[in-house]
Order: sequence, then C-alpha cells, then structure tokens
Amino acid sequence: MVDRDGPVLVAGGGGFIGGHLVAELRRRGKRVRAVDVKPLDEWHQTFPDVDNRVLDLSLREACAEAVDGVDSVFNLAADMGGMGFIEQNRALCMLTVLINTHLLVAAQQAGIERYFFASSACVYPTSRQTSPDVVPLREAEAYPALPEDGYGWERLFGERMCRHVSEDLGLATRVARYHNVYGPHGTWSGGREKAPAAICRKVAEAKLSGRREIEIWGDGRQTRSFTYIDDCVAGTLLLMESDVAEPLNIGSSELHTVDELVDLVEEIAGVKLRRRYDLSAPQGVRGRNSDNTLIRERLGWEPTTSLRDGLERTYRFVHDELVGPRSAAARASA
Ligand code: NAD
Repeated sequence: MVDRDGPVLVAGGGGFIGGHLVAELRRRGKRVRAVDVKPLDEWHQTFPDVDNRVLDLSLREACAEAVDGVDSVFNLAADMGGMGFIEQNRALCMLTVLINTHLLVAAQQAGIERYFFASSACVYPTSRQTSPDVVPLREAEAYPALPEDGYGWERLFGERMCRHVSEDLGLATRVARYHNVYGPHGTWSGGREKAPAAICRKVAEAKLSGRREIEIWGDGRQTRSFTYIDDCVAGTLLLMESDVAEPLNIGSSELHTVDELVDLVEEIAGVKLRRRYDLSAPQGVRGRNSDNTLIRERLGWEPTTSLRDGLERTYRFVHDELVGPRSAAARASA
C-alpha cells in the first residue's frame, strides 16, 4: 500500500551515494527507509532515526517489502565499482538488472508516485570516447547504442525499463546519468574504488610510508570529469522534483587528465611522487565529459564544485580513514 505521507525509500542506502542522499533527505525533514544487502556494520553511513533494513533487492519479495508504505523510491542499489571491478565482473554487473526490474514492478504495483533510477555515463557509445580531446556527451548521443560492455548495457536497459513502465503503466520515473561521482564516505580500497579515491589513497599511503612513488593506471593522459557528491545529491533531488521524464546528465563539465588529478592530490598532500604508469591496467574509455546544455535548460542548474575543492575534502577523509582506529585495528590483525 502506498502512503502519501510515508517515508522515502533509498535502495542502496548503505552505499556511497545512497548514504549521502539519506543524510540530505533527513536534513530536509523527510522520513527515510534505507535498504541495502550488506550487513549494517558495512554501510558507509547509518542514522539511528532512519528505518534501516537489510534486504536483497534482486529478489521480488524483498522489493515488495521494501516499497510497502513508502511514498517514492530512489534506486541506487547496484553491484558495481570502478573500472577495475566492472571490466572483470561483467556478469555480476548485468545481474543487477534484477534489482531495477523487480523494484520498478513492485513500485508500480504498490502505486508509488515517483521512481528515480541512477544511470551512468557508461551508457554512452564507447566509439564516441576514443580520444582524450573529447566532445562532451549530449543525452541524445546514447543512441545508436554501443555502451560499456556489461555495466553500461545493464544501465541502458534499466533506463528503457523506466521509460516503458512509465509510458505503458503510469509510474512517473526520473533518470540521471551520473559522471564519476566522488567524495568523502566513498569506497577507497578493496577493488571497487574509483580513480579519485584510489589516487587519494595512493598519495596518502606514499606520504605516510615515505615511499615516494605512485602507480597510475594507463598513461595518465586519459581524460574525465569528476562530480562532487554534494552536486550529485543536489542534482538528484532537483531532478526527482522536476517534470523531466527523459534521462539527464548529472556530471561536472570540468575536464581533467588523470595526471592532472594526481597533480592536484599531490599539491593538497604536500608531496611530489615518482610516477609509474601501468599500461596493462584497466583504463576504460580514453576521454569523457558531460555536456550540460540540457540540464541547464531543464533544471536551470549544473554542478559547480571545483575538482580542487572536492579533492581537498576527499583526501582529508581518505587520509583520516587510513590513520584512523579502524585501519589501525585491521593492520594489527593482518
Ligand atoms: P555503491 O556500491 O557504494 O552503492 C551501491 C549499493 O547497492 C551498495 O551499498 C550495495 O551493497 C548495494 N546493493 C548491491 N546489490 C544489492 C542488492 N541485491 N540488494 C540491495 N542492495 C544492493 O555505489 P555508488 O557509487 O553509491 O552508486 C550508487 C548508484 O549510482 C549505482 O546504481 C551506480 O550504478 C550509480 N552510479 C554511480 C556512479 C559513481 O561514480 N559512483 C556513476 C554512475 C552511476
């Protein structure tokens, strides 16, 4: 049953973006139900006044339980990670299709008002991203489709599911294509981390150990734009409240090479490191940037946090985690 005054569901609430979204919804006075498959002590952030539930949303019954009594749904649950993870785990990434499929159907059957799906810049054709001198990607360019193998296809299929469930069955859906989101409370080790957090960790480790060297995946000249978490959450909420039914980029348009990313983190940390380039490591596309014409037009908004500012806060978080009590305990028991 839907409850118009009921809580908002954040699926994947134990993850990086989900945790920040839960925090912001609370700040705005909303009641929140957060659902994730991980045990609670592995969630990136938890809040005592939130209805936290551990459920496997790839199962139909779990989705029905998760949406029961909620007013709207944010679907941020996915089995994914950085390039190192998605290039090696295509089947796992594709299986995430079960989460969005069951959750959409459960939301539609429960009469939920609005449903948000977190898609990705990985839906854009790889053939448009072969040079570091990129032409920023416009939403319409997702077709004809040739997305990132595995994860990109799954996200694109998820977008289409939203569109057709909306058009045929009447559930209002909103879809964002996130571009490389980073910030505090993100994954920074373990194999699923993305470039900004990985580089913050490597620079902090080099600084703390005195080993003044860093390994970089690729030749350092590949380009990306990186979106700070606060911009990602602000854009998500604006889009959810809007009448925009088509997918929108939520991404910074400040383009940098990976080498420039390392320069900035070195500057923040106050170190200079010898660089070793691993050309055999997973690198993803050669260049990618977000075209923000449509989001400016439709929402009158785009991300504004500079990479320098966002990295300052991210580096501080990763550094503190590395030297903090949890890391010290893990090192002691290793
Ligand atoms: P994350 O891995 O930190 O969060 C995803 C969460 O989903 C995890 O906590 C995970 O445990 C949970 N999950 C996985 N399988 C589940 C299941 N069966 N049932 C319930 N929960 C399950 O990732 P994130 O960076 O916070 O990304 C959130 C969403 O945004 C994802 O859908 C992702 O595809 C999308 N996205 C993220 C980025 C980015 O740069 N971080 C870019 C594009 C799209």
